[in-house]
Amino acid sequence: MNNSQKKTDVILIGAGIMSATLGSLLKELAPDWTIKVFEKLDDAGEESSNEWNNAGTGHSALCELNYTPEDSDGSIDISKAIKINEQFQLSRQFWSHLVKCNLIRNPRDFIRPIPHMSLVQTESDVAFLKKRFEALSGNPLFQGMEFSDDPEKLKDWIPLIMEGRSSKEPIAATKMDSGTDVNFGALTRMMFDHLKDKGVEINYRHRVDDIKRTDDGSWEVKVSDLGSGKNDCHSAKFIFIGGGGSSLLLLQKTGIPESKHIGGFPVSGLFMVCNNPKVVARHHAKVYGKAKVGAPPMSVPHLDTRYIDNKETLLFGPFAGFSPKFLKTGSNFDLIDSVKPNNVFTMLAAGVKERALTKYLIQQVMLSHEQRMELLREFIPTAKSEDWDIAQSGTRVQVIKDTQTSGKGTLQFGTEVICASDGSIAALLGASPGASTAVYVMLEVLEKCFPEQMKAWESKIKEMIPTFGVSLLENVALFQEIQTTTAQTLGLNEKKPVFS
Ligand SMILES: Cc1cc2nc3c(=O)[nH]c(=O)nc-3n(C[C@H](O)[C@H](O)[C@H](O)COP(=O)(O)OP(=O)(O)OC[C@H]3O[C@@H](n4cnc5c(N)ncnc54)[C@H](O)[C@@H]3O)c2cc1C
Repeated sequence: MNNSQKKTDVILIGAGIMSATLGSLLKELAPDWTIKVFEKLDDAGEESSNEWNNAGTGHSALCELNYTPEDSDGSIDISKAIKINEQFQLSRQFWSHLVKCNLIRNPRDFIRPIPHMSLVQTESDVAFLKKRFEALSGNPLFQGMEFSDDPEKLKDWIPLIMEGRSSKEPIAATKMDSGTDVNFGALTRMMFDHLKDKGVEINYRHRVDDIKRTDDGSWEVKVSDLGSGKNDCHSAKFIFIGGGGSSLLLLQKTGIPESKHIGGFPVSGLFMVCNNPKVVARHHAKVYGKAKVGAPPMSVPHLDTRYIDNKETLLFGPFAGFSPKFLKTGSNFDLIDSVKPNNVFTMLAAGVKERALTKYLIQQVMLSHEQRMELLREFIPTAKSEDWDIAQSGTRVQVIKDTQTSGKGTLQFGTEVICASDGSIAALLGASPGASTAVYVMLEVLEKCFPEQMKAWESKIKEMIPTFGVSLLENVALFQEIQTTTAQTLGLNEKKPVFS
């Protein structure tokens, strides 16, 4: 094969939910563009996007307390919650478009309705939750939210959690029935099947080892075929680095100025998985607690009903931990390899600043099964050790940057699209809120990298995602309409189970 045959319009590195989403958007907007994918593992959605490696929450800020912080004057700031809710609605509409057009099928295999609940257990947290409920429940995006501190009502909602508690303990919860459980692994695989049908060349067991600019301004990637051991070069006008945790390492290879002075802080994780079907059957909700003081936001404990392989299961966690690997299947040298002359002071500053966090993560790794059970018993007082196993989850690599407000080496908890000034290459760093907002984030990639084409694409984007570029709060009728239509297409109007 000569080099011209190896040139495509687009190369996507990594077969996670982000590349799947970008590829699917591009196939709708520019169907003639040629696309190649390189993935080092055997299949799509095997890393953080895999159903066992993330919590499967369709994050729309219905239950995550860290999205509604309390201001110093005691008021609740709901701006972040509104933003995340609006971003999730974009994903819902795009997934619904793919289903409606038969590009992916059987939505039940990747999305199910499940109540999203917040649970608090101290007097001050009960007061906080009540204030949060009052701040959100009048907002159209959070319509339908219920609050209760009545133990009898809570027994109806969460019998397993209420069992074995004294009625005198302060406890309260909110509930939103419009929450979702999303199997991002299944969704990623469905989108890659669709891309394959559309002629996208997908190369599994192919690892991208290097990326460099060519003389004509495109990009060339050096790829190892992990099956045959051969190396090859492929070039494209546009490259998306969707390598999950290892995107930073790949971005650094490009040498673009935008890749400098950025570091990565890996946070690994563990889930507890219930192996007793009788216990699983007694819970039906995603229940988020409040992060302990000093704990990072991504380690908020939650007890989740999940649908994996069409089976209901129950997971608790994640327990955060420290690992030098940037992916679950990464290398112990990832962290060291990411330290470069241009980011060494940023990394060192973060090391000093985040000593408490590092200590917390190491303590979390050292927890015994019984210590983890004690934390689980804050949710299920009657939990038995033998009913719960441990499973390793994916890894999130948080971005470290120098910022004007917080100085050198500041840990960022969001996602960040980094792209070259000419828009010819883009990378996604960070992992929160994550897969739920993949469509919003990939639309941001398109806006940054294809500003000229966006004008022509806008009407097609609006056809697929009617609320693109629209504030939902200023267009409540449109929000209600898309809630109804996407619920219908995605099969989210199922009846709730009644506990015996
Ligand atoms: C514990 C945990 C819980 C989470 N919970 C949620 C949740 O409840 N809801 C939510 O919305 N999000 C959640 N997330 C975040 C979400 O999982 C991620 O944001 C999302 O899966 C990232 O997708 P991705 O495509 O960027 O990366 P990934 O899914 O990790 O995919 C990256 C792919 O790139 C491949 N790759 C890497 N380097 C190379 C290379 N050099 N060559 C070729 N291929 C390469 C990898 O093998 C991998 O397949 C959670 C994450 C974790 C870790």
